[in-house]
Amino acid sequence: MRIVTGTISHETNVLSTIRTDIEQFERRLLLRGEEVFDHFGGTKTPVGGLMDSCANHGFELVPTVFASATPSGKITKEAFDALLGEVLDGIREAEPFDGVALHLHGAGVSEGHDDIEGHILSEVRKLVGERPVVSTFDFHANHTTLMVESVDVLIGYDTYPHVDGYERGLEAIDVMERLLDGSLRPTKAFRQPPMMPALQAQFTGRYPMKALMERAFEMEEIGGVETVTVAAGFPWSDFEDVGLSIIVTTNDDQGLADRCADELSGLAWGLRRDFLVKPMPVREALEKVKAAEEGPIVLADIGDNPGGGAPCDGTVVLKAVIEAGLEGGVFAVMADPGVVEQAASAGVGNEVILDLGGKIDALHGAPLIVTGDVRLLSDGRFINKGPMGTGAETDMGRTAVLRIGGVDVIVTEKRLQPTDLELYRSLGVEPTEKRFIVVKSSVHYRAAHEPIAKEVIELDTPGLTSPRLAGFGFKKIRRPIFPLDLEMLGITELKSMEEE
Ligand SMILES: [Zn+2]
Repeated sequence: MRIVTGTISHETNVLSTIRTDIEQFERRLLLRGEEVFDHFGGTKTPVGGLMDSCANHGFELVPTVFASATPSGKITKEAFDALLGEVLDGIREAEPFDGVALHLHGAGVSEGHDDIEGHILSEVRKLVGERPVVSTFDFHANHTTLMVESVDVLIGYDTYPHVDGYERGLEAIDVMERLLDGSLRPTKAFRQPPMMPALQAQFTGRYPMKALMERAFEMEEIGGVETVTVAAGFPWSDFEDVGLSIIVTTNDDQGLADRCADELSGLAWGLRRDFLVKPMPVREALEKVKAAEEGPIVLADIGDNPGGGAPCDGTVVLKAVIEAGLEGGVFAVMADPGVVEQAASAGVGNEVILDLGGKIDALHGAPLIVTGDVRLLSDGRFINKGPMGTGAETDMGRTAVLRIGGVDVIVTEKRLQPTDLELYRSLGVEPTEKRFIVVKSSVHYRAAHEPIAKEVIELDTPGLTSPRLAGFGFKKIRRPIFPLDLEMLGITELKSMEEE
């Protein structure tokens, strides 16, 4: 059997001031043909899973394009049309083939399409006719009726932090085999309870998301249930279908799919009050660090998460740390290509006067004028040791470690979340020896950092990925929806909830 694969992956934050043109894809990852397999072969990633599973089943996997950009603003019309055109051309050129297995994100918005995945899948469907189409999806997908109706089976990640992309890739090809041999006749139920949890509330390692996922896993053991997807959604895509959704796929049993989906949807809705997030004021958190006898304490700058489209150059926490005179910490990471260039020109061991961060927008703190010692310069490349994306290379762009006051600040050319401890170790920084670690991340940092952290604190920082969703002025999201319309729940304001 010949299976064609392709990826256009972007989590679009429509409030970001960074336009997502083709250069943004080139910066992160844009691979064609065999390059895709050269990059992902042997990695614990979704495409690595598709590759291994095809090998196990004796299928031939045919690559088209793999395009992924760091979360940012809307994808330009030119970039989206070009990438989709490449995927569709690749599928045409792969004839004769038996099925298509894609890896998509699910929260992409382009200048022409609020639901890019629905558009991609419906265009793919036109090409392949009755042949099976399956796709894996990110946990942050905002699923739509068009997406669900255009695929045979849709398989979402079960985890946030996302540590099961590889397993979902394997599963996609197992499902493909059953579609091809006719033993699976998929019947699907799709539900969208009126809720859009903030990112921090979507952490699958703690209640209430954990409770919802555990029930979904139980359902997957029921005879006739093929796969259950719970996707927590991404509010900043700001279109009608944003939010939490549930897709239950059964084998030729629509009633069973409907009953399972209704139960999960009701369970999610019943838990809604527990999806509110209560971060700690920065000053209070720094007092805790001062008082702590042991480190590292991990401080999450949840408002400036580049993985959700924020700039990654916010200065609020660094400024507070300097003012508090706290020493022994490390910041991961501050994206500021100009400062990297300045550090590289000055050279290791030299002092530089910096205009650091705060450059992309005005939401994340003003630039900091500080002096720093250049401690180390690097090409910013390392191989992930996991548990996320194990074996894949991370490329931060050129990177400098600067000692500012009593802390090490990792300054990179590219925007990225710290999801792997090799980020520090590849730069000669041992994270377990630090008193505190500041990460610009909502949840993904937890996979690698929780095992070494004495405590994890979510900081109440301003920014594009803050859990204070009511302040963003979203325009297209269907209403009413939790937590924007608290009055529909008999709650008058968020503040009163937080004080409970
Ligand atoms: Zn995600």
